[in-house]
Amino acid sequence: MSKRDYYEVLGVNKNASDVEIKKAYRKLAIQFHPDKNPGNAEAEEKFKEATEAYEVLSDGQKRAQYDQFGHSMNGGFGNYKSQGFQNVNFEDIFGDFDDIFSAFGGGGSRRRSSHSGPRPQAGNDLLYTLDITFEEAAFGASKTIRVPRNETCPKCQGSGANSPEDVETCQTCGGKGQIRRSQGFFSISQPCHSCQGLGKTIKNKCSHCRGQGSVRVEKSLSVTIPAGVETGNRLRLTGEGESGRHGGPAGDLYVEMRVAPHPIFRRDGNDIFCEVPIPFATAALGGSLEVPTLTGKAKLKIPEGTQSNKLFRLKSKGIADVRGRGIGDQIIQVVVETPTNLTERQRELLREFDEASSENHPMGNSFWEKVKGLFQ
Ligand SMILES: [Zn+2]
Ligand SMILES: [Zn+2]
Repeated sequence: MSKRDYYEVLGVNKNASDVEIKKAYRKLAIQFHPDKNPGNAEAEEKFKEATEAYEVLSDGQKRAQYDQFGHSMNGGFGNYKSQGFQNVNFEDIFGDFDDIFSAFGGGGSRRRSSHSGPRPQAGNDLLYTLDITFEEAAFGASKTIRVPRNETCPKCQGSGANSPEDVETCQTCGGKGQIRRSQGFFSISQPCHSCQGLGKTIKNKCSHCRGQGSVRVEKSLSVTIPAGVETGNRLRLTGEGESGRHGGPAGDLYVEMRVAPHPIFRRDGNDIFCEVPIPFATAALGGSLEVPTLTGKAKLKIPEGTQSNKLFRLKSKGIADVRGRGIGDQIIQVVVETPTNLTERQRELLREFDEASSENHPMGNSFWEKVKGLFQ
């Protein structure tokens, strides 16, 4: 089954603003939320589909990539996590709309199942931009990167408390994490302010993380860059993102490549393009030219009578395909250079040459023939 377009899923147009996208998703999420449609597989599918679309379109970078590559960005290299809705921040979507919670029958997305204690939360994904040279992109490389990220505090294992005895049941909500209040006909559940919905408060905070449960560290990671990467390609390091909370899984780290331009080579897919100036005498007489390639010098035979901008192809001197599908070519475009700063002697020779060479310019002659035809 082919995948529906994300914009179509949310029912918004391609230029929709973030607010419109959020609104559209909120509407669908309320309609198809599993809590409102227990046992309805179709609703659940719809909910997941909308959530996946929102996950991408609400993230500027992912959206730009989706606009450019469509669903193919999900394939193979640089995979996005697309399992359900763990990346979507429901607090952010529903946080400012109390009435939404009553729509879900009390607790909404924050409704807690029978087990007590805070809900596990997956850690955030991280994005790291890695600057590499043209050659590193072409041949691959091993790099060590230092990634600043939040990790579970090693002293308190994320509880934020100085000792296990310092974790106490919240007095305000009795450990439920929610407070119910009546408003007209409705009874509304809200997260407890005293404990931020965790159901627990901390008497003495952990001195290492100041009660945060996590600490900022710079983690060294080695990254193996496959040959053939391009700017914008992403490597995923599973579980190397930020730590999860309350036993949730860690996020992933995405390493995005940024390839520096090369002084003489330009890349076009897996082909390498290079412009080489040649003297006009070489172009006219023919000759052998030494040209640069990524792996050293190569000899290029210039045939007699070569015109400017002619392309020469050096087979398999390009870049290896990142998915292993062959290797590109190097394409050389010769540009015939007109000599400058001539001496009097050189001028004389050229004038002499010019007078004797009226029959040697088939391109020009054919052009002027056509011009003549136009004005008859
Ligand atoms: Zn701590
Ligand atoms: Zn509380």
